[in-house]
Amino acid sequence: MRESKHFINGEYLDSPDSPPLANYSPVTGQQIGIIHNGGEQEVDLAVSAARNALEGEWGQLSVNQRIELLYKVADRINERFDEFLEAECADTGKPYSLASHIDIPRGAANFKVFADTVKNVPNEAFEMATPDGGSALNYSQRVPKGVIAVICPWNLPLLLMTWKVAPALACGNTVVVKPSNETTLSTCLLGEVMNEVGIPKGVFNVVVGKGSRTGDALVRHPGVDAITFTGSTATGEGLMETAAKGVRDISLELGGKNAGVVFADADLDKAVEGTLRSAFANCGQVCLGTERVYVERPIFDEFVQRMTAGAESFTFGKPEDSATTMGPLISKTHRDKVLGYFAKAREEGANVVTGGGVPELPDALKDGFWVQPTIWTGLPEDAVVVREEIFGPCCHIAPFDSEQEVVRLANDTPYGLAAALWTENASRAHRVAGKLDAGIVWVNSWFLRDLRTAFGGMKQSGIGREGGVHSLEFYTELKNICLKL
Ligand code: NAD
Repeated sequence: MRESKHFINGEYLDSPDSPPLANYSPVTGQQIGIIHNGGEQEVDLAVSAARNALEGEWGQLSVNQRIELLYKVADRINERFDEFLEAECADTGKPYSLASHIDIPRGAANFKVFADTVKNVPNEAFEMATPDGGSALNYSQRVPKGVIAVICPWNLPLLLMTWKVAPALACGNTVVVKPSNETTLSTCLLGEVMNEVGIPKGVFNVVVGKGSRTGDALVRHPGVDAITFTGSTATGEGLMETAAKGVRDISLELGGKNAGVVFADADLDKAVEGTLRSAFANCGQVCLGTERVYVERPIFDEFVQRMTAGAESFTFGKPEDSATTMGPLISKTHRDKVLGYFAKAREEGANVVTGGGVPELPDALKDGFWVQPTIWTGLPEDAVVVREEIFGPCCHIAPFDSEQEVVRLANDTPYGLAAALWTENASRAHRVAGKLDAGIVWVNSWFLRDLRTAFGGMKQSGIGREGGVHSLEFYTELKNICLKL
């Protein structure tokens, strides 16, 4: 049995007074571990450790010293790659082939990229004339915000957690991380790495447990200076209210109901391959994934046919099997939710082109949280599965007839995270991309990420931008120093 403990001030601690949570393998449905369920006491210890570290050795380090340490964190994750891979896949059930290409390398890369960003970003300076005939020099300085609460979801645990921890530490803050209670293993393992490379105690802390208990205690703690959150829009709304107490800054990376738009002039091979990935990668549990696909009418039938063939070609299996291309959903609760949407689609009159249920699997896998990749057509735009984020391996495909119409359809959602556009016409790509309500628009690609670019959502998909220098806006206070010469 694996045991996920808190990592506070460089040590692993348990919560002896509250019953632990169970950790289940999504692949087999069997219990594989326990997770301590931290409360106010553990959160208080972690926030105090983070505060002390800020005021201690960590706060005294130069930028270059911090950067060197963060490079070592990246190197050490890569040295322990196989352990991170095993931990991540045990928690999520995702195929090794996916996690070894995306989750773990990006987990390490985040530390390198943000270390480089902080090292290379210039400060502004303005020399001004003063009324007495002299001059003054204004220059900016970026100072850390303080103790940052980092709250993460379960779909890309290491990748999304380090996406926030790396810039926070590079900017000189200290952190208390609350991973999802579905996926604690890689975050807890990172504590060992922090100790091994000599990150001072208290700089990186982890509290594990339920969102409504551990997470809530963390965001309410008055010692937390800012909150960075990735998760659902509903939870984000609540955290925003909590952040208002004490006028604390909050960065919100929330849900989406992203559109894919395929014009008849698209390279069909690339559009089908990209849309298959965007709808089904990570078993559809990607915030940037496509759950609504709009296809120009002349190619609609062929596109649906080719998507169907692609959806039916995935191989379910254990994460470590190299043939596996489709893992399970994260939990029984989430599977019940996704199957509820599958039932709703049928009720609302969907044409279930493929999938719509649970696959037949051998005994070793049959108790896992599997669902079939699913494609629907024929639903009206106000159908529940066309409007709500499902976060499963499914999409609805609808035809369109004009550019104007498809922009209206794509934007008819309370969300605004990402969109994928497929066309060989560069003028149209530029024109339509500019009109889509989305923080990220991919043209002829999907999930092509340059970590220096701004990342974040419009409308109910979030507030703020992280990535590259944009992360510095959140993780530092920009101070102006006016020096009379
Ligand atoms: P969630 O909102 O249920 O949970 C996210 C985290 O918040 C978890 O660690 C949870 O324990 C914690 N939490 C829950 N209630 C809390 C509370 N009251 N106080 C403090 N913390 C609390 O989301 P999830 O189900 O883990 O993740 C799926 C969602 O995340 C989807 O909506 C998806 O779109 C979104 N997501 C967004 C992005 C993005 O970059 N925009 C990336 C990944 C996932």
